[in-house]
Amino acid sequence: MQTPLEHTYAAAVPELSVPWPAEKPPRPEIVWLNEELARELGYDPQQLRSEDGIALLTGQIDGTVAQAYAGHQFGTPNPQLGDGRAVLLGERVDPAGRRHDLHLKGAGRTPFARGGDGKAPLGPMLREAVIGEWLHALGVPTTRALAVVSTGEQIAPRQGVTPEPGALLLRVAASHLRVGTFEHAAWHLDPEVRERLVEYTLTRHHPSADGPLALLDAVTGAQAELVAQWMLAGFVHGVMNTDNMALSGEGIDYGPCAVLDEHRRGAVFSSIDRGGRYAYGNQPGIALWNLSRFAETLVELIDPGQPNSAVDAATEVLEGFEARYLEAHARGLARKLGIPSASSEEVRGLGDDLFVLLEQQTVDHTMFFRALAEGGAEGLFNESDPYRAWVSRLEPLRGGDGQADDAAAAMLNANPIYIPRNVHLDAALRAAHLGDLEPVRVLLDAVSDPFTRRTGLEHLEGPGNGGEHFLTFCGT
Ligand code: AMP
Ligand code: MG
Repeated sequence: MQTPLEHTYAAAVPELSVPWPAEKPPRPEIVWLNEELARELGYDPQQLRSEDGIALLTGQIDGTVAQAYAGHQFGTPNPQLGDGRAVLLGERVDPAGRRHDLHLKGAGRTPFARGGDGKAPLGPMLREAVIGEWLHALGVPTTRALAVVSTGEQIAPRQGVTPEPGALLLRVAASHLRVGTFEHAAWHLDPEVRERLVEYTLTRHHPSADGPLALLDAVTGAQAELVAQWMLAGFVHGVMNTDNMALSGEGIDYGPCAVLDEHRRGAVFSSIDRGGRYAYGNQPGIALWNLSRFAETLVELIDPGQPNSAVDAATEVLEGFEARYLEAHARGLARKLGIPSASSEEVRGLGDDLFVLLEQQTVDHTMFFRALAEGGAEGLFNESDPYRAWVSRLEPLRGGDGQADDAAAAMLNANPIYIPRNVHLDAALRAAHLGDLEPVRVLLDAVSDPFTRRTGLEHLEGPGNGGEHFLTFCGT
C-alpha cells in the first residue's frame, strides 16, 4: 500500500477548497507513466501500475478536494473560477523532503464546473505532458505529468463533431497556489484568510521571506526568471490569465501553448487569443500585469494603517521586475551564445540586435541557436552581411582561453535540437486520438533529452510544413 497523501493546504485554508471525489473512470488504462518522476517522488513505477497504483492515478482515494480560485481572464476579472474538472489528490513529500501537489485533471464535474462537462480529451492531456517534460529537460521550472490515463469513455468533441477519447492527467506541481487564489480570497473572504494564505505560501515556497511585501518580492523574482526562460526557449504559454500564474514560479496549465518556429515577437497560436494579448513578445509585460493584480490583493496586508505607504512599497517591488527580468534574460542568453562572462548590458545589446535580425530574416529560433553552437548558422540567413557584422561583435565576448572552450561546450547543453514543434506535436496528438500512441512516445522521448542528437529522430528537427498557420484550440 502507498503512504497516504498529506493535506496541509486544505487544512491551512479550508475556506479555499471543498471536499470532492474524483469520478471513477469506467476502464482506466495507463497511456504514459513518467517513471523517472515516479522514482523522484519515491514511488515504485511497478507499484503504480498495480491495482492500488491505478486507484491513486485515477483519484480513487480519500481526502481529495476541489480548489476555489478567481482570476483575470484576458484582462477581465472573473470572480468565480476554481477546479472545474480537477481535484487536488493531496501532497506527496518526496524522499528529499520536498512537498508536491498531486492534481488530477479530467476527473469530472465539481461545484466549480460552471457548465463545463468536467472531462478532458486525451490529446490535450498528452500535450501538457510533452510540454512539461520538454521544459523540465531545459531546466525551466514547470509542473510535470506523472501519468496520462485514458478513461475508456468517449467525451463530447471540443472541436468538430467526432467524440474524443477521455483522459486523466495526474499533474505534479510545487503547489497550485496562484495569483487567482489570492484574488478569490481578496474578493470574497476576510483579510484574515489572506494572512493565513501569505503564511502558508511563504512556508511552502519562499521560507526565507517574511510578510506580504517579501512574498510579493519573492514571487516577482521567480516570475522574472520564469518568463525570461520562456522567451529564450521560444515558448508561448498562450493563456497567461492570473489563474494560470503559479506563486511557486513554475509554469502551469499548458492549454493552447505553442513554440516558435521562426522568431517573431507577435507570434500568437491560440485561436481564442484574437487580440494577441498573450503573443510571444508580450509575455514579460503580461507577467508584470499579473503581478500587479497580485500586489493589489496584498496591499491591505502590507501596512494596514498606511495604505499609501503600502502602495508605494508594492510599487517599488513591481518597478524592480523589469531589471530582474532583463538580468535573467541576459544571463540565459549569454549561456546560449557561449559567452563566459560579460556585463548584462553588453549581452542585452547583442541580444536586442540578434532578435531583430532573426525576425527580419525569418530565421528559425531554435535552429539558429543550435547552429551557432554546432557551426553553420550563417547559412540560415538570406543575407549574410548583417549576420557577419553581428557575429563580429559576439566573437570578442567569447574570450580566448580555456573558459571559452567550456562556454562553447555548455552551448550544446543550452540550445536544444528537439523541441515540441507545433506541426510535429499536432501530428503526434492526432495519431494518439486515432489510437496510435507511438508518435507521441517518440516525441516525449526526444524532448526529454533534447540536446543529444539520435538517429531516427531526424524528422523532428525542422519546423515541418504549415507551422506558420498553426492554431491551438482552447478545447483543452
Ligand atoms: P484553463 O483555461 O484550463 O486554465 O481553465 C479555466 C477554467 O475553466 C478553470 O477553472 C477550469 O477548471 C475550467 N474548465 C476548463 N475546462 C473545463 C471542463 N471541461 N469542465 C469544467 N470546467 C472546465
Ligand atoms: Mg487554469
